[in-house]
Amino acid sequence: MNFKNKVVLVTGASKGIGKAIASSFAKEGAKVVVNYNSSKDEALEVVDEIKKLGTEAIAVHCDVTNEEDIKKMIIETVKIYNGIDILVNNAGQIIRPGDSNTDSDSWSKTLDINIKGVWLMIKYAITHMKNGSSIVNISSYVGQLGSQYVLPYEIAKAGVINLTKAYAKELAPDIRVNSVSPGNIDTSMTRGAGEEFIQKTISNTPLKRLGEPSEIAKAVLFLASSDASFITGVNLDVDGGFMLTN
Ligand code: NAP
Repeated sequence: MNFKNKVVLVTGASKGIGKAIASSFAKEGAKVVVNYNSSKDEALEVVDEIKKLGTEAIAVHCDVTNEEDIKKMIIETVKIYNGIDILVNNAGQIIRPGDSNTDSDSWSKTLDINIKGVWLMIKYAITHMKNGSSIVNISSYVGQLGSQYVLPYEIAKAGVINLTKAYAKELAPDIRVNSVSPGNIDTSMTRGAGEEFIQKTISNTPLKRLGEPSEIAKAVLFLASSDASFITGVNLDVDGGFMLTN
């Protein structure tokens, strides 16, 4: 896979899966826009690491729930790099139970971050994406289970898969749109669920471990690459087999 001089915008690239995606594209020669919301220092570290690889990167603040922020981030990206070749909608957040299943503010916030933000990013990015560009959205295994553990998050992630298919049809044949559904990956989001959850999920995963952020990045790079030139509208589970048994 060669992304030399391709412009890649990754939302939520300050840590976890987004950071791994940003670094993986940079290793293949891409120029990377590292979006962050609250973790500015971490985002600047990601940019430094990318520059050490010999390619370009900028860190841009944008809360994906804020339409004005999104417009500004897209304008800044286009001003510096003249367009966007690959958009990765990775930013996401779980508001854990205790309030998120029952409190309407938590519902709205969760849906704003995890699904409306994806829609807004696509809405404003596509006018700057040329034929042959690609979009990869990060969904989740929980978007396919109906488990009601964190209901608004799960609904939002199911929405990401549906939105991916809708845009794959709308933007074909010019722009391919796919999603990746991670299983439980070793990031702060998963660690935040606690040790009991982690041990249970490892035991329920056929490959008997958490995934690594780099393993999600590999799937994203594949879908964004010319190796996936006849693939659009798919959701790729990268979950150690979790969906087989749950
Ligand atoms: P993480 O380590 O908690 O990182 C989340 C990232 O999203 C951070 O960079 C954060 O930026 C960003 N973010 C959150 N709210 C944002 C907002 N309003 N605007 C812009 N950026 C925002 O989580 P992760 O595990 O890497 O998750 C990455 C994606 O994978 C998410 O979409 C998540 O739902 C999905 N996913 C994760 C797992 C898993 O097991 N970890 C499983 C399935 C799906 P700041 O820190 O700068 O605020």
